[in-house]
Amino acid sequence: MAKKTMRQTTRRKSKSKAKTVKALKKAKAGKAAKVKTPSAQIDADIKALHGELPQWSPAEVEEAFRRLQAAMPEPKGELIHINPFTLLVAVVLSAQATDAGVNKATPALFRLADTPEKMVKLGEAKVRELIKTIGLFRTKAKNVITLSQKLIAEHGGQVPNTREALQELPGVGRKTANVVLNMAFGEPTMAVDTHVFRIGNRTGLAPGKNPLEVELKLLEAIPAHYMMHAHHWLILHGRYICLARRPLCERCVIADLCKWPGKTTFLRTDATVSPSP
Ligand code: SF4
Repeated sequence: MAKKTMRQTTRRKSKSKAKTVKALKKAKAGKAAKVKTPSAQIDADIKALHGELPQWSPAEVEEAFRRLQAAMPEPKGELIHINPFTLLVAVVLSAQATDAGVNKATPALFRLADTPEKMVKLGEAKVRELIKTIGLFRTKAKNVITLSQKLIAEHGGQVPNTREALQELPGVGRKTANVVLNMAFGEPTMAVDTHVFRIGNRTGLAPGKNPLEVELKLLEAIPAHYMMHAHHWLILHGRYICLARRPLCERCVIADLCKWPGKTTFLRTDATVSPSP
């Protein structure tokens, strides 16, 4: 009798193990994950833009940044620069261009000109030639030269550390000023680019109809102890995980907190399948 019970238990165990293996195989093949259709994702983005998604509670915000910090303890901006001046130039060049595209052109430019004086001496035609692979290069070359002239004439060749003075420079808007204030001067600013705007709206962290609305909500919602790096955590999360067309929800550390109806959900199988932390 005891032998029969043991045989039954062993059979039950191996049956359950086989089920688990099968479920895991299914999950690995993506069958346990329900990826929303592109049109469902677009609808979800429209809902998010109209403020129809619930917002995160302070506890959820804290938890999200705790996880982002754990995943990337020292997040860094990806634009190549040597000093505040080259950072300012790189950010100006990055408008409507990718950081990777800017980084292809700037090392040669910065080798020749890493100060406003050298940039002016280099001249607009040479700058244009060096940055011609970047979109809007003609306007950007002109801006780089005139902002260098302005820095020499009005700021002793130094990059100013106030938003007002920065935004008076040609080609420098609020977003660029925020990046420079954060990265060059250690101010807890929040630059809202396309990635941060998307994440603010999708997740429920800071829904808003325009970048300024999202920026102000982020400044209000994010705890002070996360503000210094918050901008980079959000940008990097948007650039590599929460992609515009096909967000990688299965690799997202904040997937369970995210309120976006377009996110990939994970069906329950015999083995519990959840996004990896
Ligand atoms: S789960 Fe993560 S990757 Fe997916 S939409 Fe939400 S924040 Fe983006």
